[in-house]
Amino acid sequence: MKLFRTSIRARLTLLVCALCGLLIFLAVVSALILTVVDGITEEIDNKWLAATQTIDELGDSLEEFRVAEGYRALAHSADMRLRAEALAAGHRHAILAHLSHYAALMRNDGDTDIVPLRNALTRYFAAHDAWISADVDGEIDAPAGMNGALQARYQDAEALSDRLIEANRVTSHARAASVDRLVDNAIGVLVITVVAAILLAIWLVARVHIDIAFPLGTITRSLSRLAAGDRNVRMPALDRNDEIGEMANAFDVFRANAQALEAAHCALTAAETHAQRLARHDPLTGLPNRRVLAAELQKAVDHVAHAPQAYLVLVIDLDRFKPVNDLQGHAAGDFVLCEIARRLEDVVRKGDTIARLGGDEFAIVAQADPLAYADAAMQLANRLLAAIRKPVFIADSQLYVEVGASIGIAALPNDGRDPETLLRAADIAMYRAKREGKGTSRFFEESMDRELREQALLEIDLRRALFDGQIHPHYQPLVDMQSGALYGFEILARWHHPVRGDVAPDVFVPIAENLGLISELTAAMLRRACRDASAWPDTAIRLSLNISPTQLNDRCLPAQLLPILAEERFAPSRLELEITETALAGDIKIAKTILTDFQRAGIKVSLDDFGTGYSSLYHLRELKFDKVKIDKSFVLSMQRDNESEKIVDAILSLAHSLGMPAVAEGIETREALHRLRAKGCEYGQGYHFGKAMSARDVATLLCEA
Ligand code: C2E
Ligand code: CA
Ligand code: CA
Repeated sequence: MKLFRTSIRARLTLLVCALCGLLIFLAVVSALILTVVDGITEEIDNKWLAATQTIDELGDSLEEFRVAEGYRALAHSADMRLRAEALAAGHRHAILAHLSHYAALMRNDGDTDIVPLRNALTRYFAAHDAWISADVDGEIDAPAGMNGALQARYQDAEALSDRLIEANRVTSHARAASVDRLVDNAIGVLVITVVAAILLAIWLVARVHIDIAFPLGTITRSLSRLAAGDRNVRMPALDRNDEIGEMANAFDVFRANAQALEAAHCALTAAETHAQRLARHDPLTGLPNRRVLAAELQKAVDHVAHAPQAYLVLVIDLDRFKPVNDLQGHAAGDFVLCEIARRLEDVVRKGDTIARLGGDEFAIVAQADPLAYADAAMQLANRLLAAIRKPVFIADSQLYVEVGASIGIAALPNDGRDPETLLRAADIAMYRAKREGKGTSRFFEESMDRELREQALLEIDLRRALFDGQIHPHYQPLVDMQSGALYGFEILARWHHPVRGDVAPDVFVPIAENLGLISELTAAMLRRACRDASAWPDTAIRLSLNISPTQLNDRCLPAQLLPILAEERFAPSRLELEITETALAGDIKIAKTILTDFQRAGIKVSLDDFGTGYSSLYHLRELKFDKVKIDKSFVLSMQRDNESEKIVDAILSLAHSLGMPAVAEGIETREALHRLRAKGCEYGQGYHFGKAMSARDVATLLCEA
């Protein structure tokens, strides 16, 4: 039963089978009825009507036999008698023939009894024969004889034959009536069957409509709405658990899939839009990115090719942004970048393009009057610098930071005719602005490009020089001012380039710092100096090594340098490190850790170039320097400049009050030596004592001493 509840196919199959069964039943019943009716009709025809006709003919023959009997009775000649008897005999023969025919017809019908008729006829014919025999010569009163007993016998036979006819008629009527009834019943059954078949067919059609057509229509409508984009269309409750129910359920799955597909499509479109935006915009500030800038620049280039137009390309790099990021955190850094981006947007004109190139670098493409673009550029740069310089108050904190910017400017078409060249030109100009003091702007000049290329070549040469050992230490004497005795040397790096000649450390040391090669340079100088010193006669002579500011942020510095001393068997107590004041602008904690490590190993630490940077008393005390080196600029100008002398006095008194000896750099004259000695300066260094010299010259000097 469950199958018929869950399967339309099973139900329809059952209904069609029932309909077919009814039709087959109809056909079989009709065939049977026709066969029976045909049999009975044939029987009535062949048996009962034939029997009735036979008996009828028998009756006729009997009457004619009686008439012949009458002729016999009335015959008055022997000849007539004979003829009448012959006639009677013929009729008797016919009667007997009919009788036996009738008996043959009724042979199988036990109900019909012809025995009384046969007996009556036998008695009648016997009486007739007796009457004839009695009247051989016509002597008797024949007619009287004919009417008497003979008449009675005749009437018996005639009555029996009539009764037989009547019986036959009744029987054939009964048979015909039974056929009628049968046909009536059959028609009834057929009508019922046909009605049942029609009802079944109607039911079948109704079920097809209710079970299939109607729900299919509902599902089709829902599907059409779904296809038209109505993703919230609901399938009306069909409450079915057959194929249609499965289809309705499948629709829900389909709709859910369509919804999911649409959601996925929407997400994809959103992601694509987002990706397109990301591809064109800087995610932090929302400004266009480098790609967009390059495209805009290309448009400008194309425009300039066809019209007397000019464009300005400005590259803006923020100054002092790195400390904001490092000290205030990246969130503050991001905030500052966004704020600066807004300010830049406020400054530029509508139609100009402003983009973030990355990090703290921005760029602007602005249209300009070809006859006055230089003035326009300077005005724009100044407005930008003023906007950037204003303090940025960091949201949700009491802090404000001040950043500046260096701006490089290139002009289209003067400085280049393609986006790449123009951006590079503006970039070069920006670097020049940065190098020349920051917070300012520079127009691109051809010479800048040459210098930059030169710088790049120098960088390549420096790398090679460092690894080929082209850079070697020279040594400048350090003297005890009171006794005049040589107590040590400052290691000063020297680079003699085969083509360039001598390259100054002021030139190559900053490059080595920028290239990240400064620790290699320092280590190489120390190792070479230790080896050189091992050949010198004076085993107590001290060496002073310059440490670059960037190295004081590198925790690995002690681990790099101390093993060299051990490997080269140079006593740490003979080494001094010179740290410039600018080194203290970085992370003071790391610097302190590094310096403490060295001091624990027995190495002394001097504060180099004192007075030129911004080290505070706090730094001096906190980092526990062993010595202070007064920058040579004060010493050199001391003789001419009263202010410088006051600074030298102040440094000396400060150092002495903190218990630190001082070293005066840049002593070129005897007079400077005397004045500094008089002021109580402990140590001195300068051309007066000697310039930086080679290791061999040091050996000669020490041997002579
Ligand atoms: P600094 O550490 O201040 O070195 C002293 C500089 O003053 C040296 O210049 C020296 O030649 C010069 N000088 C010495 N006495 C006098 C004098 O009486 N008059 C004048 N006018 N100058 C004098 P140099 O060798 O050109 O070195 C320049 C700077 O390069 C150094 O300044 C130092 O900061 C840096 N430097 C040199 N070698 C190295 C090194 O190996 N490592 C590091 N990190 N820096 C080095
Ligand atoms: Ca130095
Ligand atoms: Ca110095």
